[in-house]
Amino acid sequence: SPNMGKPPLDLYLAAPRGFCAGVDRAIKIVEMAIQKWGAPVYVRHEIVHNKFVVDSLKAQGAIFVEELSDCPDDRPVIFSAHGVPKSVPAAAQARQMVYVDATCPLVSKVHIEAERHSENGLQIIMIGHAGHPETVGTMGQLPEGEVLLVETVEDVTTVDVRDPEQLAFVTQTTLSVDDTKDIVAALEARFPAIQGPHKEDICYATTNRQESVKAISAKIDALLVVGAPNSSNSRRLVEVGARNGCSYAQLVQRAEDIDWRAIEGIKAIGITAGASAPEVLVNEVIDAIKARYDVTVAEVETAKENIEFKVPRVLRQPA
Ligand code: SF4
Repeated sequence: SPNMGKPPLDLYLAAPRGFCAGVDRAIKIVEMAIQKWGAPVYVRHEIVHNKFVVDSLKAQGAIFVEELSDCPDDRPVIFSAHGVPKSVPAAAQARQMVYVDATCPLVSKVHIEAERHSENGLQIIMIGHAGHPETVGTMGQLPEGEVLLVETVEDVTTVDVRDPEQLAFVTQTTLSVDDTKDIVAALEARFPAIQGPHKEDICYATTNRQESVKAISAKIDALLVVGAPNSSNSRRLVEVGARNGCSYAQLVQRAEDIDWRAIEGIKAIGITAGASAPEVLVNEVIDAIKARYDVTVAEVETAKENIEFKVPRVLRQPA
């Protein structure tokens, strides 16, 4: 048998995992923009946080830059799924550039929420990770200094607000559901009048991926999360695994990143993937494991996802 001598290993595949509707749409936007306008099409920031995705779009004619100032006036530019501060489309407009905004509709929803609260005279507290492009984008919907950032329960105790009676909070969409619950509770305890979304602004994809890791965590000793180090939702999945009893939880971008010595002697391993990680990379990881172990695969599905977002109208019209 081909499995002679290979140690047995149970492999639990978390579902849902991998691409979400916002990532799917953002990638489609870049591909359709290249079809419509030809190469090169510029993309401001990694369209989604995954090197494999970025490299395959580069091969199709996309050029990735960090700032709008790195783009020429006469080529189309696409803004990444994470969202951008208001100043970015404003600058593109001022330069009369063609631009397409690939901000996930669930991020745009948070932008609108922040603006609406601000129009109602409320100061906004954002729960998010400093420097993450989504946080920069959401805070940038309002003038500099208007939105206060808290990253931890500890930050809530020191945040300096204008008027504790006139406050609202919004969140990044890819946070830890459990940590955010604690931060929201701390905000509500210190500022009982604070307004906010029903729970938080964490999106369905983030919630579902964390739930599915929890569902397999009792069965597994180790968890591999296929995803990039700069992907917020992928890093949160590693934390969920570690906190729910995986003695080893690791982010891997590709099969080559697997630390075989770390999983030596392990009987059951879980695999999931962040919202920006393509399924081909999950399969690559599974195949690498199968090459070394006699693997029994079981998929554990905790939710069905059938959300799809339309691409912007400009791309649905003929050139
Ligand atoms: Fe949109 Fe959530 Fe996907 Fe981010 S993780 S692109 S908010 S669906």
